[in-house]
Amino acid sequence: MAGLSPALLAGHIPALPPAAAGIVTIEPGRPCLLSRIDPDADGGLDKDEAKAALSVERARIQGLQERLYGEGKRSLLVVFQAIDTGGKDGTIRSVLEGVNPQGCRVWSFKVPSTEELDHDFLWRYHKRTPGRGMIGVFNRSHYEDVLVVRVKDLVPEEVWRARYGLINDFERLLTASGTTVLKFFLHISKDEQKERLESRIADPEKHWKFDPADLVERRSWDAYQAAFDDALTRCSTPYAPWHVVPANRKWFRNLIVARTIADTLEAMNPQFPAAAEGIAGLTVPD
Ligand code: ADP
Repeated sequence: MAGLSPALLAGHIPALPPAAAGIVTIEPGRPCLLSRIDPDADGGLDKDEAKAALSVERARIQGLQERLYGEGKRSLLVVFQAIDTGGKDGTIRSVLEGVNPQGCRVWSFKVPSTEELDHDFLWRYHKRTPGRGMIGVFNRSHYEDVLVVRVKDLVPEEVWRARYGLINDFERLLTASGTTVLKFFLHISKDEQKERLESRIADPEKHWKFDPADLVERRSWDAYQAAFDDALTRCSTPYAPWHVVPANRKWFRNLIVARTIADTLEAMNPQFPAAAEGIAGLTVPD
């Protein structure tokens, strides 16, 4: 791992729990083939069961987030990537419902500004990584720089090819500095994308969500799937593996993402700081 000091390499890396049942974790060193992963999987649950289970997971996240915030020593970065209409916004809204906004920040990354393009490609992401005690959520992320940038040929191949290793180093740096990195790819089928685009066109209330450019991007479906396969293969590491979430069924997607976040926070085991001595029994003067 070029570029990182021995001190960082020796840094503490927390053990990550396995992702919730239904999620496919890409084993480091093994190829990811999205075409072999069923986006329709629902774990044999029905919608009502999944919704009830989701409330339990949300309550776990809320309690654990309070501890993470109180402890103020470590942080969690949750990365969401997906094809257009894949459900990043909906998942974030659902899973973080009820979380104390003070301890959580969501960042969406759009086409880079001129200032951002004047810096190294990780600059704008690094600035937004969560500080101690915080949960940070990336709605799109540094992976765009090996996805859209590759599919649309925005930089020469040798430039985007070098980025996989740089991304691994970046995530290793974050992890060694106390940030647990959790990465979800929301996996939908091409038919499901068609239905979601059609429903945006049919419903005037959803027109604001419809971008005609999505129809153009859809023509590059296969190129995007290949770019995702490569990114998930090259950047699934023991310290920050990629999790593929079957996402055609929104209620199943929300449940298993929430459960994985809750399990990860639980494994981090955040602790409230020890109270100052002698608080119990104090009286508050009138
Ligand atoms: P979203 O689809 O996430 O809701 P938008 O419709 O505004 O938000 O799309 C954001 C756009 O920004 C996407 O087309 C995405 O490909 C593009 N984008 C994000 N990061 C980069 C990047 N690093 N380089 C080029 N384009 C990017």
